[in-house]
Amino acid sequence: MAEKVVIIGSGPAGWAAAIYTSRASLDPLVIEGAFNEENRQKGTLPLGQLALTTEVENYPGFPSGDMTAYLDGSIDKPRRQYMAPHEKQGVSGPELMELMRQQAANFGTRIKTDDVSAVDLSSHPFQLKTLGGEEIEALSVIIATGARANYLGLESEDRFKNMGVSACAVCDGALPRFRDKPLVVIGGGDSAMEEATYLAKFGSPVYIVHRRSEFRASKIMAQRALANEKIQVKWNSSIDEVLGTDEAGVTGVRLRSTTDTEQTEELECSGYFAAIGHTPNTDFLAGQVEVNEKGYVRWTVAARTNTSVDGVFAAGDVADDNYRQAITAAGTGCMAALDAERWLAAKGFE
Ligand code: NDP
Repeated sequence: MAEKVVIIGSGPAGWAAAIYTSRASLDPLVIEGAFNEENRQKGTLPLGQLALTTEVENYPGFPSGDMTAYLDGSIDKPRRQYMAPHEKQGVSGPELMELMRQQAANFGTRIKTDDVSAVDLSSHPFQLKTLGGEEIEALSVIIATGARANYLGLESEDRFKNMGVSACAVCDGALPRFRDKPLVVIGGGDSAMEEATYLAKFGSPVYIVHRRSEFRASKIMAQRALANEKIQVKWNSSIDEVLGTDEAGVTGVRLRSTTDTEQTEELECSGYFAAIGHTPNTDFLAGQVEVNEKGYVRWTVAARTNTSVDGVFAAGDVADDNYRQAITAAGTGCMAALDAERWLAAKGFE
């Protein structure tokens, strides 16, 4: 029998959609992604981008405080044992995601730990295939597969992720390790300007490392960054290597000039922020859902989560290249759940 709602993805958008659709008695199935090396390398493991961050201080409802007892009591023991010991205050990204997952499970959401590898959205019910070889029919689908930050692809970037390497200043910038320390942002677009300006509240100096001699960023954002006395630009420079140790994490970067490739320079810093764009996780859709000019799933109705395929909805970063916050992803996840519920009712699939 066809599933009423299949939710693909397990970040804040996916779990918010699951909580709402399960409470609406739609018996949702979440395909949360597979734990495999390819997903680890790409930054697309289950639980989304938040699972790759440390402390979360900007998600409403999770003020700082000792959450140990609450987490111990609310997360299944077998999953809890893989979470880092909670010696700090507040909630971490992985913890917040486990809490959302558990909240969805508490309302009866069924969860499959697998990737959707292919879809056929050309006829109804929709057909989904998983990496594990399952074939699933769905009356409605919520795409919530998120986006992944682009990194340069250096081994040293990978080594120091969560130890000074980040792709989200808003998520990580206020952490103690970055306070009053030199920081590096790589990129020359609006994201790099925004990240550098944001980071300048905490660290100093903030170096923007850009491979050309002019920014791609909009004038206003570039001017704001350039006018900030804590921000310095390293023009015509690329990152050769992120430097650091296992104990200290990032301690610096080695730059290489893009105009004279013999020329290198080492910069001391405690943070390295990649701001060279994001890539939405849409490969499995194989072009069956319309995307915008940047490759993000296009919402086709104003203030709704409908896509170009009737009965297929999208939520979170896979369709949002603008806000890209956990709270906005959760918000659109809730919207997609309500949109799917109303769509199913209107079609008489109750
Ligand atoms: P962009 O694609 O606009 O910019 C990416 C930057 O990274 C470019 O400067 C590019 O260099 C550089 N880059 C890409 N690949 C590499 C590489 N391998 N090595 C070194 N540098 C690299 O992405 P953004 O994330 O900045 O912006 C995405 C979209 O989101 C844009 O439309 C932007 O306007 C929007 N946005 C808007 C904001 C706002 O208005 N508040 C804030 C943030 C983003 P090069 O220029 O040489 O190609």
